[in-house]
Amino acid sequence: MENGVVFKIQKFSIHDGPGIRTTVFLKGCPLKCWWCHNPEGLEPSGVIVYHGNRCLNCGNCSAKCPSNALQIEDNRLLIDKSLCSKCYKCIEICPANALELIGKTMSTEQIIDVVSKDIIFYDESGGGVTFSGGEPLMQYEFLIETLKNCKKLGINTAVDTSGYTAWVRLKAVSNYTDLFLYDLKFMDEEKHKKYTGVSNKIILNNLELLSKTYSNICIRVPVIPGINDNTDNLNNIGLFLKKIKIKDVNILPYHSIGSHKYKSLDVMYNLEELRIPSASEMQNIADLFNNYGIRTKIGG
Ligand code: SF4
Ligand code: SF4
Repeated sequence: MENGVVFKIQKFSIHDGPGIRTTVFLKGCPLKCWWCHNPEGLEPSGVIVYHGNRCLNCGNCSAKCPSNALQIEDNRLLIDKSLCSKCYKCIEICPANALELIGKTMSTEQIIDVVSKDIIFYDESGGGVTFSGGEPLMQYEFLIETLKNCKKLGINTAVDTSGYTAWVRLKAVSNYTDLFLYDLKFMDEEKHKKYTGVSNKIILNNLELLSKTYSNICIRVPVIPGINDNTDNLNNIGLFLKKIKIKDVNILPYHSIGSHKYKSLDVMYNLEELRIPSASEMQNIADLFNNYGIRTKIGG
């Protein structure tokens, strides 16, 4: 049995594919999108989240830390990640639950135990299980084994991917999933590098290859005002999808719901001041994609 690191399991999800779904969020992502609303999923292993509003400033954690990674300054705990050895003694000792470990090791069997409880809802709604992240293909062996076990139970599956992975892995996963939710952000390579940290070449090549052998692909385009919502970028996405004959797109309006998490994780959030796109702006983008013969849905 494979083990994986999971940071959230969301039941009764209606935004991660058709019908009622359970979404399993796997840790680790090779991209660092500026607008990421799951920053706790970026690191492959567990991360410590500090809830300053619960902290008693008792100092128990820093006294117990074997790596001298913790310090209290101005009534706030500072964690030096470069020193932390991830022993998690600080979490055990904290009397106020001010420290939380995000990322739990689970076996395929444990995941199947959780997701199979809702088979009746999947069957009634045309739903199933979605594997998201992070980037679920970062935990390739675990993902494949869990998908195979879902298949054995007749559970419909979807994989929500950035496409930034080796083609052989994506191809192998395509044999065991019913749907890909495939993210596209920019067609311009330099902008992709700037805002996600990686080139889009692998992502576009993989999508083109996948489209030749696999038909159930839904593209997800996050709409980030002033960053990727210009008509050049959107038209280039439309042209590319038309060329490779992909017909379904979901456009996802930027929201700042996850921004508070950055503070707890002590990570800089670059897009603090960004506005949320209006309904009419989203409709204009949907119309633009519709003009390329692409069925476009606003939202997940
Ligand atoms: S996990 Fe261990 S090493 Fe890291 S800060 Fe906590 S006590 Fe220190
Ligand atoms: S042990 Fe918990 S309550 Fe005490 S200083 Fe550390 S984080 Fe705060």
